[in-house]
Amino acid sequence: MFPPSLEPLYERYLAGLPAGVYLLEARVQEEDLKPERLLFASPRLASFAGEESPETLQTVLWNPLRIHPEDRRGFEESIRRLMKENEVWRVFRFERGDGHYLWIKEGLSVLEKSGSRLLLLGLWVDLTEEKEAFAELQTDHLLWLSIFGKAPVGLILYDLEDGRFLYANPYTLKVLGYAWEELRIKRVWEVVPLRFRQEIKENLSWRAKAGRSCSFFYELPLVTKTGEERMVSLLTETFQWKDRRVGVGIGVDATPQLFLERRLAEVAFFDPLTGLPSRDLFLEKLRALILRGARKREHLLVAVLDLTNFREINATLGYEAGNRILKEVAARLCGGLRKSDIKSHFFADKFGLIFTDIRGTYSLQVVFHKVQEILKKPFRINSHEIVLSARIGGALFPRDGETPEELLSKAEAALKRAKESGEDVALYSPEIERSLAEEAFLRSAMVEGLARGEFFPVYQPIVRLSDRRIVGAEALIRWHHPELGLLPPARFIGLAEKTGFISELGDFILRKALEEMSPLVSQNGLFLCLNFSGRQFRETSLPQKIERVLKETGFPPEKFHLEITETTAMEKAERTLAILEKLRSLGIKIVLDDFGMGYSSMKYLVEFEVDKIKIDRFFVSNLLSGEKPRHVVRTIVGLARSVGARCLAEGIEREEELEILKEIGCEEGQGFLFAPPLTLEKFQELVKG
Ligand code: C2E
Ligand code: MG
Ligand code: MG
Repeated sequence: MFPPSLEPLYERYLAGLPAGVYLLEARVQEEDLKPERLLFASPRLASFAGEESPETLQTVLWNPLRIHPEDRRGFEESIRRLMKENEVWRVFRFERGDGHYLWIKEGLSVLEKSGSRLLLLGLWVDLTEEKEAFAELQTDHLLWLSIFGKAPVGLILYDLEDGRFLYANPYTLKVLGYAWEELRIKRVWEVVPLRFRQEIKENLSWRAKAGRSCSFFYELPLVTKTGEERMVSLLTETFQWKDRRVGVGIGVDATPQLFLERRLAEVAFFDPLTGLPSRDLFLEKLRALILRGARKREHLLVAVLDLTNFREINATLGYEAGNRILKEVAARLCGGLRKSDIKSHFFADKFGLIFTDIRGTYSLQVVFHKVQEILKKPFRINSHEIVLSARIGGALFPRDGETPEELLSKAEAALKRAKESGEDVALYSPEIERSLAEEAFLRSAMVEGLARGEFFPVYQPIVRLSDRRIVGAEALIRWHHPELGLLPPARFIGLAEKTGFISELGDFILRKALEEMSPLVSQNGLFLCLNFSGRQFRETSLPQKIERVLKETGFPPEKFHLEITETTAMEKAERTLAILEKLRSLGIKIVLDDFGMGYSSMKYLVEFEVDKIKIDRFFVSNLLSGEKPRHVVRTIVGLARSVGARCLAEGIEREEELEILKEIGCEEGQGFLFAPPLTLEKFQELVKG
């Protein structure tokens, strides 16, 4: 119905207005315009005009009989102005189908002219309501009110001198809960809480006297009819109208927004899962206690608690169970510790605690005992009984620090140290700081060291037990640091795994060992064992990488033995399994290292196809202590057989151990009895000699 070129215009700008729109083709006839064809009429126009259908609309729109007799002259005059000026606004009373008159303000503009034909755009705004309520306002103001008055923002007009409301739009009335009749007899300051009244009165009288327009922005509560306070953001402007100074206020109800902000603040301050204070609030409380403590010479203990076996629970029983346990831990901490002790849930299995009134350093032990008591009773999740243990790191105020952040970070450092040294409790000490500093030092030294060629492999011979013949070697990494000297893997492998540096280190040792050993392996038929960390199995391209290095170094794949520990195998077992299968398809042999030391050895023996099992040194070194260890080793050897794997004993140091192992039927071994790990040259000599 609307000409295509104008359709988007209507859709985008006009359809939503509280105004009627129409397009009319008209013909110039002498001094007059005759409507020819109504091309478009918006639904709102039809509703203004009454029950009219689009067809009948055309006959009533410009029909003088529908115009109030008093307005007919002006109505006709405006047509002549339109032809001259192409645009006109006129106000008239229009008789709706039901006999009622509407106050209409109509805007007309000429869109196109061709010969005697004109294309006109008409816009109708219904001012009836406003005209009735504000007879004294000019129609231009009424137009403004009519359009903006219906918007979802508050709009008020008020007399600056006596503070009376001159106008309030429906939105304002809805927010305040008043009918217009009730509000119009009130003064502006009567809807403001008592505590702000004086200020508002002063503001009004100041604006009344100021001879210019001045705008203000407020955030202030308004009081509704029921006495409730609602926060409003209000922009006011001042203007002169006839002999009056009038204030206009445009405002929005900010209460829902504020409510949301407050709620967000609460969420940030309290952990939604346990209801305990969050880490942020913990720090705030600590700040307050430090201030109090500094005044009263009070000592504080800041502790960070970490559940040691929570990750496995999460992994085996699921997050839902994990969450239930955390909730219960929180409840037990609240019940088992003094009310005045502050408890907080940081995240996952980390909790923060603050103890006041602390004397001496023994207290962390006391706290740990209490926590142990609290966790002693098993947690019941479905049919499972779970026993939790915890670790605690602590720092003392004022001894270890004076700001909340400092104390917390020191307590966390202590916890970290406890974790690494396998202890349950650690109180911060400068020594801890030193070892953490050393760690930081090693971290960067490793990176530089690799670039400077400080890392190299050594090779420990592997022998056939029956005749002590060297059949292979295990490559073991070493680091020669210029100042620290020769460092064993225990000093840096863990750290490298933690930082991810192990993958570069692993790449290096892989290439280096294969390059160095390739000739020996080919000439003497030896095999080479290489250790891999779990972290390296995160790279799904590991098999391709190994394959490439094997090719480039000319190393026979079947002589390459890849060692993994059970912990490696445990992490992401699915993915590891897929990687191992790929490696085996290349001809590579898989060796399960440190067998018996992990806690799921059997499971992996069943799931993974392994070619060799390395019996951990622990079992070997116990062999001479009695019957039992012997039985265990015998069982391991039997187990290996049953899955088609060979057996190797690690850490053989004595002839007696060798004899027992031979008798049990273990095929291979390595240990100081035969040779320690050797440099390449020494190893070559040994093999050739
Ligand atoms: P592992 O793979 O179980 O290596 C055997 C460890 O036992 C070696 O320690 C070796 O020197 C030591 N050893 C050998 N024979 C005897 C003995 O008769 N008595 C005693 N007491 N010890 C013996 P090392 O070289 O210090 O390596 C420690 C661990 O570091 C290795 O244990 C392995 O898990 C890891 N590692 C070493 N090199 C690498 C590597 O290149 N990559 C990865 N990811 N880990 C490595
Ligand atoms: Mg090994
Ligand atoms: Mg081992």
